Amino acid sequence: MKDPVYNDTLIEFNERIMRRKRLHQQKIDDLYRAVPQIKSLHDGINRAGLKLALSSIPGESNAKLESIKSEISLLKEDERSLLKSKGYPEDYLEYKPSCNICMDEGYVHGQRCRCFNNLLIEKYYDQSNLKNILSKENFDTFKMNYYSEEKGSYPVSPKMQMEKILHESISFVKDFNDDSPNLYFFGDPGLGKTFLSHCIAKELLDKGHVVIYQTASDIMDIVRRSKFSSSPEDSQNHPSSYLYKCDLLIIDDLGTETLTEFANNELFNLINRRLKDDKKMIISTNLSVNQLEKRYSTRLASRVIGNFLFLEFFGEDIRMKKADIL
Ligand SMILES: [Zn+2]
Repeated sequence: MKDPVYNDTLIEFNERIMRRKRLHQQKIDDLYRAVPQIKSLHDGINRAGLKLALSSIPGESNAKLESIKSEISLLKEDERSLLKSKGYPEDYLEYKPSCNICMDEGYVHGQRCRCFNNLLIEKYYDQSNLKNILSKENFDTFKMNYYSEEKGSYPVSPKMQMEKILHESISFVKDFNDDSPNLYFFGDPGLGKTFLSHCIAKELLDKGHVVIYQTASDIMDIVRRSKFSSSPEDSQNHPSSYLYKCDLLIIDDLGTETLTEFANNELFNLINRRLKDDKKMIISTNLSVNQLEKRYSTRLASRVIGNFLFLEFFGEDIRMKKADIL
């Protein structure tokens, strides 16, 4: 692939793994200096391993192979007890990969591993800042006491409504699978839609899911750029294809993008394709159902209305309340 973002990601991925392996080697070298017997045991294990490999040819007697195998397991046993007696964990010499799925190979069954894809998405979608936001905005820092218990003219109190939305959001994260609903967060600004979307993104990213969080305008820019710049043979693996295939796509600020026929069509294609593939979405917007129908084509509005769980945020702007409290 010629995409420069892909190449940068590949370089950074390999550098990260090499750095991790170098640190591991350094740790071992330090150990060998501190406890030289470990090194001689380890050299013995390696020599025996080589002997085993050389003897594993047709014609060698089973007895000889068995004796080398038991020599190795005795040496390993000695190594483990020596480590333990010196106060090190038994598996101190083993390399611990940063990814337990691909063991830092970057591939599983010939396909790029999620750890690589997540790095690619972080770079391509400029999501590296998302991690910083997410350390401050997550379910643990979500405050229910900003929402009023007074019902006023609403059908239920804002607090009660928020509790319902929070409950839906937590189950969405907990039971995230093909049967999860798509969520449509709507209501006035300043009521926590973005905050809650961040909470969900963080939890699912932590679980290793591929999550893309972008505003509707940025999504349209990405689609436009990829349509008009990438060559067709790349399109399957181009990072823009993750808009269609990531586990969760969070479309923030739907309704603020410039609406053209192109945007209307592409937005429909994106949402429709993800619905067909059972790929989940969260839409966060100020648009009510009526406004959604007015702004977009009937086919787009009806796909959204028929396939999303509508959750309305109402009450007073909590950003003002936060500012008062701080
Ligand atoms: Zn991996």
